[in-house]
Amino acid sequence: MVDGTESVNPTRIELAKHLTFQKASQKSDLLNKDFVDTLVVQMVIDLRERFGEQILVTSLYSDHDPDGNLGPHGHHPRPTYDTPGLSIDLWPENNDHEALIKAIYESPYVWTFGAGGDTVKGFVAKMPPPQDGKFVYFPDNDQDHYHLQAANANGSGVRYVQTESNNAD
Ligand SMILES: [Zn+2]
Repeated sequence: MVDGTESVNPTRIELAKHLTFQKASQKSDLLNKDFVDTLVVQMVIDLRERFGEQILVTSLYSDHDPDGNLGPHGHHPRPTYDTPGLSIDLWPENNDHEALIKAIYESPYVWTFGAGGDTVKGFVAKMPPPQDGKFVYFPDNDQDHYHLQAANANGSGVRYVQTESNNAD
């Protein structure tokens, strides 16, 4: 049984320095490749660069209820805790929702976005999600949070390949 800490990827350590965690377990989960999939790390690094402000992690893996019953790509892809999670719940510390939502829509690594709570749902109503045939939006529960998922139905890949034209803003 490997606990994942002996081979912590420096990229994960660096990312953890730039996030705020509501619970200590979220940080140790992020550092553990057995708990949080590399695709989530890639997604949050990209999101952070685009957003440019502090991101608060509100739920990640150990602190999230099992959601494998909802499908194979949530915080616990299977009902048992034996596969890395593919989702993260977060919040913009500065409450700049427009900037965070813009970053979510622009990131090629975000596949699914669930808006939790009236605040986020209200901003989404003003800022329609991408209609690229891949990006999935759903209204999540009443708890204030952004649910972001880093994999498509096949479990991997980027949502689109960035080009000069779709990068132009
Ligand atoms: Zn979630």
